[in-house]
Amino acid sequence: MTILYKASAERAGQWAAAFARQAPGVPFRIWPDIGDPEAVEYLLLWQPPERIAETFPNLKMVFSVGAGVDQLDFSKLPPGLPVVRMLEPGIAESMAEFVCMATLMLHRDMVAYLDQQRRRQWREIQVQPGARRRVGILGLGQLGQASLAKLRPFGFPLSGWNRSPRQIEGVACFTGADELPAFLAQTDILICLLPLTEATRGILNARLFAALPPGAAIINVGRGGHLVEADLLAALETGQLSGAMIDVLDPEPPPAEHPFWRHPRIVMTPHIASMTRPEGGAAFVLETIERHRRGLPIEGLVPRGQEY
Ligand code: NDP
Repeated sequence: MTILYKASAERAGQWAAAFARQAPGVPFRIWPDIGDPEAVEYLLLWQPPERIAETFPNLKMVFSVGAGVDQLDFSKLPPGLPVVRMLEPGIAESMAEFVCMATLMLHRDMVAYLDQQRRRQWREIQVQPGARRRVGILGLGQLGQASLAKLRPFGFPLSGWNRSPRQIEGVACFTGADELPAFLAQTDILICLLPLTEATRGILNARLFAALPPGAAIINVGRGGHLVEADLLAALETGQLSGAMIDVLDPEPPPAEHPFWRHPRIVMTPHIASMTRPEGGAAFVLETIERHRRGLPIEGLVPRGQEY
């Protein structure tokens, strides 16, 4: 069996080293050096190649190198082919760290202070107690829950919103479209950790911003497609929103003339909120292959039709 890697060329060497350490006997190839296509049983990828079924007749499983699978066009994948999203623990750990950093930056007015520094302005902003800064997360999946757990010691009142009901100790949980307005009305810092689907595309829009308390701030670590950029700019202009931490855009990178690059109320990072660690990723892939061989349930298997 061969595992074929088709994702970031810069990180390919790290993945190859991780597989070589953990499974020295397993052939690991890096796209476009595919070798014998009939030997390829597992594809570890970001974007799939064209004509996947014809090219790799013995393919048993596809792994996304990331936790999200919105980059995949499922209509081009053979219907019975299992697709597994990456669930190595480093993803949740680094996302939770980033969410804490971004939340604290907004809570302690760092977006405003960075702007002040650029303008050589020395001006205090009154500190708000953490107990009065309400933090809410859209999407209570593995990353939303890991982030809430890491946020807990800071003492922010925490809440979350999700499609299906959740019960999380110390977190006010809201469910479905009916409860979205109530959730938003009590959220000062809103974090998007939803998957990008037809239902969630454009969810960070003018209507949603208007339902937040005036002066609220947002953190988008979901996908660029969640955000209506013009609506964010308008909400920052009126002061309805006070700041935004934006880690994901559509497209990435944004063009040189994009208004976010120089916006005084936006801090932008290049989709680094969390990163799959090859060591953990290789362990997850190898364990999943073993479980698949033994007919055991597979974690991270993406239900066809749901596609996240
Ligand atoms: P999960 O699948 O574990 O969680 C997604 C959650 O969102 C689920 O609880 C799901 O609810 C909920 N959800 C889905 N659709 C809706 C909807 N229409 N309305 C309300 N809730 C909904 O995903 P992860 O937590 O692992 O990842 C979330 C996203 O984070 C990824 O899809 C990816 O886009 C992004 N990401 C960003 C990274 C970055 O570096 N910026 C890195 C990794 C991921 P239910 O359980 O009811 O279906």
